[in-house]
This record gives sequence, C-alpha cells and structure tokens, in this order.
Amino acid sequence: MNDPNCIFCKIVRGEIPAKKIHDDAEVIAFHDIRPQAPVHFLVIPKAHVATLYDAGPEHVAALGKMLAIAGRLAREAGAAEGFRTIINTGPVGHQEVYHVHMHVLGGPDPLGPMLSRKR
Ligand code: 5GP
Ligand code: ZN
Repeated sequence: MNDPNCIFCKIVRGEIPAKKIHDDAEVIAFHDIRPQAPVHFLVIPKAHVATLYDAGPEHVAALGKMLAIAGRLAREAGAAEGFRTIINTGPVGHQEVYHVHMHVLGGPDPLGPMLSRKR
C-alpha cells in the first residue's frame, strides 16, 4: 500500500510538502513542482502502484476517480477551455516517478502538439 522510499507516497503521508488541491480517501492532487504549462497538476492514487502495468481490479475505484475529478480540478485551477491528461508508463513513456500519476495540463493558451517526434 505504501512504499517508504517512494516520493509520492511521502507526499501522501505528508512527509514532503506539496501544494495540494484535492485530498480524499483514495486520491490526492497537487501542483507539479516543475510545471510545463500554466496549469499543471498531478492526480495520484493514495495506494502505491508503481506503473499502469501493475494496476489491477483493486485499483479501479482510485483510477476511475482520478478521471472523474480531473475536469472540476482543472476548471478550478484556471483551465476552463480544455486540458490534457497524460499518464507516462515505463522507460518508453519517460516515466520518472514510479508511483502512478496522471498529469493534467492546461492553458489558457492551447498546448503544443501531443507528441514531438524524436530526431
Ligand atoms: P513523469 O515523467 O514520471 O510522468 O513525471 C513526474 C512528474 O513529477 C514531473 O513532472 C515532476 O516535475 C514531478 N515531480 C517530481 N518530484 C516531485 C515532487 O517532489 N513534488 C511535486 N509536486 N512534483 C514532483
Ligand atoms: Zn508510492
């Protein structure tokens, strides 16, 4: 449930500060420390799940809630005209933190293209 060395578990436990915008029994949301858009926050399950490869039926409620609250939180954070959700998985997906997290990125101005092609 909880990984003592995981940075996002430490945020869940309150051992590392974060600018939280949501906290309930299953998920929390907080602003990304290195925002890549005017609105950029992360929504994570409280339970430690390293990647989407590791997700199973026991995580359905938390993963569903992450999507279900994204719109309201995005609007409240200032992204009223749209936003993008991203979950990076594994080395191919450039996942840096191995605790599942959904990025929510928004304007006000339109974001760039979804993927930039590697040269
Ligand atoms: P990934 O590449 O794994 O999808 O993205 C990890 C994200 O977590 C990055 O956008 C990074 O800025 C963010 N991040 C890493 N460490 C921390 C932290 O300690 N606090 C917060 N708020 N965000 C973090
Ligand atoms: Zn964790």
